[in-house]
Amino acid sequence: MIDLSRRRFLSAALAGSAGLALPAAARPETLPATARLVTPAAPDYETWRRAMVWQARKPDRMPAAIVRVSRAEDVPDVMAHARRRGLQVAVKSGGHHLWGAALRDDALTLDLGLLSDVKVDARTGTVAVGPALWSRELALALSREGLAFPVAHCATVPMGGYLLGGGFGVNGDEWGGMACFWIEGADIVDANGRARHVSRTEDPDLFWALRGAGNGFPGVVTRFFLRTGPLPGVITESVHVFPLDHAGEVAALVAQLASDGLPNTELMMLLAADPGAAAGTEPPERICVLRPVCFAASTKEAHDSLAPLSGHPLMQEALFSIPHREVSMDRLQLGSIDYATQFGYGRYLVDSDWSDAPEAAVRALAQTFSAAPARNSHCVVLFKNPPRLPEDAACSLMAPVWMGRYAAWQDEALDGRVLDWLAESSRALTDHSLGHYINEVDVRGGKPRIQACFSPRAWRRLSDLRAERDPDGRFAGFLSA
Ligand SMILES: Cc1cc2nc3c(=O)[nH]c(=O)nc-3n(C[C@H](O)[C@H](O)[C@H](O)COP(=O)(O)OP(=O)(O)OC[C@H]3O[C@@H](n4cnc5c(N)ncnc54)[C@H](O)[C@@H]3O)c2cc1C
Repeated sequence: MIDLSRRRFLSAALAGSAGLALPAAARPETLPATARLVTPAAPDYETWRRAMVWQARKPDRMPAAIVRVSRAEDVPDVMAHARRRGLQVAVKSGGHHLWGAALRDDALTLDLGLLSDVKVDARTGTVAVGPALWSRELALALSREGLAFPVAHCATVPMGGYLLGGGFGVNGDEWGGMACFWIEGADIVDANGRARHVSRTEDPDLFWALRGAGNGFPGVVTRFFLRTGPLPGVITESVHVFPLDHAGEVAALVAQLASDGLPNTELMMLLAADPGAAAGTEPPERICVLRPVCFAASTKEAHDSLAPLSGHPLMQEALFSIPHREVSMDRLQLGSIDYATQFGYGRYLVDSDWSDAPEAAVRALAQTFSAAPARNSHCVVLFKNPPRLPEDAACSLMAPVWMGRYAAWQDEALDGRVLDWLAESSRALTDHSLGHYINEVDVRGGKPRIQACFSPRAWRRLSDLRAERDPDGRFAGFLSA
């Protein structure tokens, strides 16, 4: 007889394969044969439930059922099934939402994890992608055709939640601000289970929501249609490491350069543990890293673009610098996963803030970060100046600086301290915060915090749209725990 842990292991291993239909006799007639239904009565329910969330910290929310489809065509039937059973639907593409939005008590989790197709049309410079396609897979498919897209900074981030929430992509500023602004259309299934195509001219209200409504989008996206741009001739990266107490000053300089318009350059700051700090020190010594990445036609162009930064006297105060060197897009993305240091593995939580006071806000961030538990915790600071927001997008909040706080740890016993620190650090930033990023917001703040991810106008429009398009609240929508 197979024991429970072995059975769980086998279920987890099999969870990745497509043809996992239940025998016809065990299957409710309402679901297509190509879909897999897992109910709480199934012995592998817990394995599947845990697999809906990418990271090691799993919320204890218990769905009424999990349905994995292997074809977009099956989604209308799953919606009909949910309606007949009176179940809400929570959609999962890659399960990367850091607060586990795809798991809701008593709802049906619709797992789109197998919809990861990609079709590049080099002639029109467009690409059709399934919602579970990884950032890395998209970047590789495009680069073979000499094309590029503002994919996420981490290789494994899938398109579904990333694009719906806005999407801070590589070379974001040069490439239009947010990745969702590159969405040209989508195939969706609405709350009534009707498949439809959404674009600027077909259901323009849903098209608007597609570009930034995050998990408030009232539909299931089964395919995105995206425009692309030319792959840059070279990508170069340089690194400048400063003491943590220089963070405010560095931010002021970078914000000024971003505002002046440093061409072809993504200006990213990281606050992180000093790699040289002695193991076991808690919290570890921390540093401030400035990491400009240039996307240019040639190495010379990249070098020239960076001149105002490299020649600035503040750069002399760096503890050390790695001069700019060529990197591939692939290497940029893989850099955020490192098994040796367990970076990209383990338990994660996140919160974020927009601010229009880069120097003061980053100074406050550095101060609160110095007390963050766990060595792998880090902050990402991005500069968006001037903020560029199109009218036809629900993504409606942007300011000169964005700060993400990522708690990253291994030991479950630290959970309480991490949660406390996230709340304390949020309070420390209140005076500087204009709002948050819907994909990376501490959901414990409830509705007011979710609302603060949008402009007041966009929030009203989105609330009206959801009431109109999903009057019965079929979609579980925003997570606010
Ligand atoms: C390691 C890591 C790196 C990251 N890097 C970046 C980054 O560089 N830039 C950035 O902007 N963000 C980044 N993020 C955040 C990321 O954008 C969000 O976590 C996003 O939700 C991930 O998408 P997902 O499809 O995996 O979400 P899921 O967890 O699968 O879904 C979250 C919610 O989004 C909605 N949703 C997802 N797919 C669909 C769909 N097809 N149709 C309808 N609704 C859907 C649902 O409401 C769902 O509950 C990162 C996250 C992680 C874990």
